[in-house]
Amino acid sequence: MRPMDPHFARYPFFDGARAAVGEADISPAALVVEDAPAVERGLERVERALMEGTVAAEEPRRWSDREELLSYPIARILVSLVDTPAAVDKYAAAEAATAHDRFRADFRSDDDGLQSTAARSVSLDDVLREFDLSGAVRPERPDDGRRRGSRDPTHYWVAVGAYLTLSTADWGERWRLVNRELATGEVRVTADELHRLLEEAVHRRVADGLPFEVRGSAAGEEIADALDDEVASLRDLLNDHDVTGRMEVEAVVPGLFPPCMKALVQRARGGESLPSHSEFSVVAFLVALGMDATEVATLLDAEDETAERIATRVEYLADADGAQFAPPSCASMQSYGDCVNRDERCETISHPLSYYTSAVRDAGDVRDWRETAAEGTSADDRT
Ligand code: SF4
Repeated sequence: MRPMDPHFARYPFFDGARAAVGEADISPAALVVEDAPAVERGLERVERALMEGTVAAEEPRRWSDREELLSYPIARILVSLVDTPAAVDKYAAAEAATAHDRFRADFRSDDDGLQSTAARSVSLDDVLREFDLSGAVRPERPDDGRRRGSRDPTHYWVAVGAYLTLSTADWGERWRLVNRELATGEVRVTADELHRLLEEAVHRRVADGLPFEVRGSAAGEEIADALDDEVASLRDLLNDHDVTGRMEVEAVVPGLFPPCMKALVQRARGGESLPSHSEFSVVAFLVALGMDATEVATLLDAEDETAERIATRVEYLADADGAQFAPPSCASMQSYGDCVNRDERCETISHPLSYYTSAVRDAGDVRDWRETAAEGTSADDRT
């Protein structure tokens, strides 16, 4: 395989990355049969997509750029073999959410002129070009972000056709055209909203063609047989998710949260910027209790950028039919270092949601935080 463009490890859905895999001197099929490291990373990609809404590696230094790139087609094979709409949608959403985080980081480093990351970074212009949007998006002020040291644009104008193609009615009232500033065939959007549109472009590209038929040829049968164990473990994850994602308890009682979640809520309310996996854990837990983005942001005392990021997480955690990503199990919380202040009930359960269900049942009559929040009681008093 000739030297690889380092962008492709971070953005394996780019057209150029697909071409690079096509030109590789080893095919994904051969990797599977050989059980190459890219297969393990491909499995991790899908596992983390289903359980945590990200495809980022838990230990990024463990994988070379080549393994990262090749893990993408492997992940697509795995998702196709699992072959459920939920797996496809969660996987595509997680690839898109991860790309969204990376775009934002890259655009910032590009704007800051950080040379150390330049080789792996993409610019906004690169991404617009990748999705044929160069002619459809312009910064509000022509000079913004084009010169080193110039101000990062806060607003853009997007051609109405591109805007309508990429945004959907599910995103809420503020995305409806009647509620937007519109002039000469363009819609005014904030930088964050533009990034959301780009995330959708990634989602659609990743989902395109999934699931595909893997079996159907002798080579396909061989690949599918070689991935039997991985596919079985992914199906188990989805089944676990179905069980843990369905909460019988609907009341939100922060005082009965498991110790790990109380600690994360308190850290967030104390103004700490939580690591990504910790923020995911607590937001997934709260969403599993039926809380919406506003309630989660209120409980975590999140404002501005943090509230916006949380709203995006909530959006991905609650899918269209109400099924949810399960928050991490106790085992995962332990591996993150977020299992703290264990108590006696912790010895009887293996999942923070089970802890909460059991605590609420034992408590008998409880009052929902959403009712008391309106009366102005401090969440700190109740956690
Ligand atoms: S054992 Fe489970 S519920 Fe208890 S603190 Fe640890 S992660 Fe939370």
